[in-house]
Amino acid sequence: MVEYDAVVVGAGIIGLATAYHIKKLRPQSRVLVIDKMNTAGQGNTAKSAAMFRCFFNSQTNLTLVDTTVEAFKHIQNQQGLDIKLRWTGYLWLFSKEQFRTLEPVLKSMAESNLEYNVYEAEELTKQLNLNTQVMVDEEARVMRLADVDKGIFIPKAGSVDIDLVVQFYEEEFKKLGGEIRYNTKAEKILVEPKEALEIPYEPFFWQESRVAGVKTNQGTIKAKKTIVAAGVWANTLLHQIGIYAPMVPIKRQLFSVKATATKLKQLLKTKGFNSENCMPFTILPKPAVYIKPALEEKAFWLSYGDHFPRAFKLEDDPQPEENFYRYGIYQVVSKYFPQFLGAHSDSYWAGQYALNTIDGQPVLFAENDLLVVGSCSGSGNMKCDAIGRIAAALYVGEKQANLYGGKKFMVSNLGMTSRKVEPEKLII
Ligand SMILES: Cc1cc2nc3c(=O)[nH]c(=O)nc-3n(C[C@H](O)[C@H](O)[C@H](O)COP(=O)(O)OP(=O)(O)OC[C@H]3O[C@@H](n4cnc5c(N)ncnc54)[C@H](O)[C@@H]3O)c2cc1C
Repeated sequence: MVEYDAVVVGAGIIGLATAYHIKKLRPQSRVLVIDKMNTAGQGNTAKSAAMFRCFFNSQTNLTLVDTTVEAFKHIQNQQGLDIKLRWTGYLWLFSKEQFRTLEPVLKSMAESNLEYNVYEAEELTKQLNLNTQVMVDEEARVMRLADVDKGIFIPKAGSVDIDLVVQFYEEEFKKLGGEIRYNTKAEKILVEPKEALEIPYEPFFWQESRVAGVKTNQGTIKAKKTIVAAGVWANTLLHQIGIYAPMVPIKRQLFSVKATATKLKQLLKTKGFNSENCMPFTILPKPAVYIKPALEEKAFWLSYGDHFPRAFKLEDDPQPEENFYRYGIYQVVSKYFPQFLGAHSDSYWAGQYALNTIDGQPVLFAENDLLVVGSCSGSGNMKCDAIGRIAAALYVGEKQANLYGGKKFMVSNLGMTSRKVEPEKLII
């Protein structure tokens, strides 16, 4: 039986970026990617809002995103593949109290030379017809909303066509000689003794054992290293062999509202923030409902990342909940943006975040010839290139990964044993 140098389970954005960077670092390695679906990026990558922002409170996240966004720019500008980068910017709205707690984040951003602009409430009303004084309204008080005091605008932020980024990594990986098999589901991780005694029931606990590949619905695949990049499904495989990656699956939903009414059209085409001449991606203060300008579709995408009492429950095909829009998102958004009054959502979908509830950051570790890469906590797309490079460095046994632009990153900082990250507070 052929033994691959590496088998990567999962052809989502993380698995593909990892496989591609492994081939870049070790062109001679024989690398196989498998996925249970019939094509690439059909897991939670496809469900995403595909936004990116160079705005996080943790230095780690800032580095992962900033270098990935630079890699996206390179793909678009130097490699000539139009991945539809749109610099809409992020407009994050804050109440007075929230803004006070944000000051250290802004200081650290300024130190990292990351640009942002502060907008006063009056300017926001003027530019966006935003209702900043919601709390005069009794319903707003019942919903415990908050008046908007300021907005932070982050210009180095926007959207990308994530299907095209997936296509980029898949094709480049294949050009380097990488192999992919779809409709191939890993059912079990294969564990073997390092030195086989050829006796039944091996390996025994007194033997040294290692991960030797995966058992799939299409047969066994042997590999020197097995890389699990299976997103929210990773623990299904890992738990079988007593390994745990800190992540829980949590449902996230997106609702599209067409900008057909005149006021919504005007809102979508708001000028003055960005070169796209559109409303920026906007996050409300409380609850942090977000609104994406979906320019290609002349629509808005709305979402909210709810927590208690939302279940942590793995679902292959999570369903959106219409009432989540009707009695939740719609009620909140139309208080801040009355332009949405009467607006229905005509299409909606749901996916899942692989949420690291401890510090909200990705996790990468290796043990017994198994590598795990995941726990992207709702921002895996915007960090994919950096995570792929760190996973590839872990694969070749380098202590430091070379991120796009030459920035170094200690691989162990995202590991489990000597993890060194600051908890992320700006998760939406
Ligand atoms: C509603 C929503 C909005 C989001 N918005 C954003 C955003 O704006 N920006 C951003 O950066 N991120 C966003 N995210 C998060 C982002 O989508 C994820 O972080 C990212 O896609 C994770 O990629 P992945 O490759 O780890 O997982 P996935 O894309 O889920 O890939 C895992 C792959 O593994 C395969 N697989 C699983 N188990 C097996 C098995 N046993 N055998 C074979 N194959 C297997 C699956 O089929 C799948 O293709 C959003 C997520 C959701 C749900």
